[in-house]
Amino acid sequence: MKTSRKGFLRSALAAGALSMVPGKFLGATDTIVSPNRKRSMRLAHFTDVHLQPEGAAPYGFEAALHQVQNMADKPEAIIFSGDCVMDSFSASRERTKTQWDLWNKILKDECSLPTHPLLGNHDVWGWGLLGKYKKDDNFGKQWAVEELKIPKQYYSYDLGGWHFIMLDSTTKHGPGYIAKLDNEQKDWLKEELKKTPSATPICIVSHIPIYAMCVFMDGKRIKKTDGMCPVV
Ligand SMILES: [Zn+2]
Repeated sequence: MKTSRKGFLRSALAAGALSMVPGKFLGATDTIVSPNRKRSMRLAHFTDVHLQPEGAAPYGFEAALHQVQNMADKPEAIIFSGDCVMDSFSASRERTKTQWDLWNKILKDECSLPTHPLLGNHDVWGWGLLGKYKKDDNFGKQWAVEELKIPKQYYSYDLGGWHFIMLDSTTKHGPGYIAKLDNEQKDWLKEELKKTPSATPICIVSHIPIYAMCVFMDGKRIKKTDGMCPVV
């Protein structure tokens, strides 16, 4: 059975509502997913690897990559949703290069799966160093975009019948950052959503949550960041 995006959301909401009814549990007859439905893909999701040369970090990253690739039912691709390196936000050029070189060496040597990465706040170079590298071509996001081999700091692709939208949720704010999509990216996102056929499921990946529980607990600050959670 083919389910449209709206239909899927409706089913998911219905399932959520049902599971919240006190004393009522979903039974076999309440199944909302057709048992005949075929899996379209299997993905691994890594986030906040925070890779650095020190300690067990490189070995831990390698072990995790091996684990995923040695699964009997292994995924088709890996999504890295940001903070790939420990920190380049407040790191020197040398330290940043060391971390990216290590990231790319481990992926080259230990990973044969396709990867789909995006930037986290710690992958942005130099914003935390009071403009020390401001005039460098790689200042800000450009260095990470090149090291991660992605077309732009936000981009999209199709995989297994799904449309994936990879967001860049880190926006410069004074000497630091806030969680926000700038206007250009917002327009791009609107266009992406509009042009994707309604029956195509969409997966949106963002390092900083675009909607989170903190909205309900920290409303005043959230308002200033267009609804995105300012805490990372
Ligand atoms: Zn982060």
